[in-house]
Amino acid sequence: KKRPYRWQRVLLKVSGEALAGDHIQNIDPKITMSIAREVASVTKLGVEVAIVVGGGNIFRGASWAGSSGLDRSSADYIGMLATVMNAIFLQATMESIGIPTRVQTAFRMSEVAEPYIRRRAVRHLEKGRVVIFAAGTGNPFFTTDTAAALRCAEINAEVVLKATNVDGVYDDDPRTNPNARLLENLTYQEVTSKDLSVMDMTAITLCQENNIPVVVFNLTKTGNIAKAITGEKVGTLIGG
Ligand code: UDP
Repeated sequence: KKRPYRWQRVLLKVSGEALAGDHIQNIDPKITMSIAREVASVTKLGVEVAIVVGGGNIFRGASWAGSSGLDRSSADYIGMLATVMNAIFLQATMESIGIPTRVQTAFRMSEVAEPYIRRRAVRHLEKGRVVIFAAGTGNPFFTTDTAAALRCAEINAEVVLKATNVDGVYDDDPRTNPNARLLENLTYQEVTSKDLSVMDMTAITLCQENNIPVVVFNLTKTGNIAKAITGEKVGTLIGG
């Protein structure tokens, strides 16, 4: 049975890993272009799209902290700066095909992008511009998944669409277990209690507390972003 949902304002979370694809450098321009094309196709339908980008393709704070005396906060600031690089790349790609796009950073870099101002972000969306939120939450010890949940709640978007490299959430690792099953529907409780590695606990809890559904889907399959955005069944839906 097809779910009759359709979103008017969505928060698309694109991880750094997804942006990297299998490109030898950190960002695969084919992937940013396919994201841009699909986002364009849905903004034409009148769906408002905000994007939170990750930075794990360039730098992940937690895995660097400790090495060479790097403290966690400093490492995380570098990680947040990495997300700004991805955001600017994605913005440039989107604008190259005519999608008006604004980047807003969680900490000021005013020569490069606007600072995050909630009301202004909402205004951009209402005008049909895509808004890319960069620098995560602006705080160390958080993730861009948490930033996605937070911004989603702040701007009253209806859903977090989490783009990944796999088709959705499985009951086991599909890369090592060929019998792993794709789970089409999950509750927040199932995600946290079964320790399904969908999002970190802070992010999923924030979604749960604010009744924000999460769709986990495969970004590498053409058409999936548009499907996810328009509310067609794709990947795993987490809610309730
Ligand atoms: N980060 C942070 N605070 C935030 C968001 C991100 O400190 O609110 C840092 C953290 O070091 C993280 C890095 O930025 O490892 C990149 O973000 P993330 O790992 O969430 O990116 P993704 O996994 O989505 O590529």
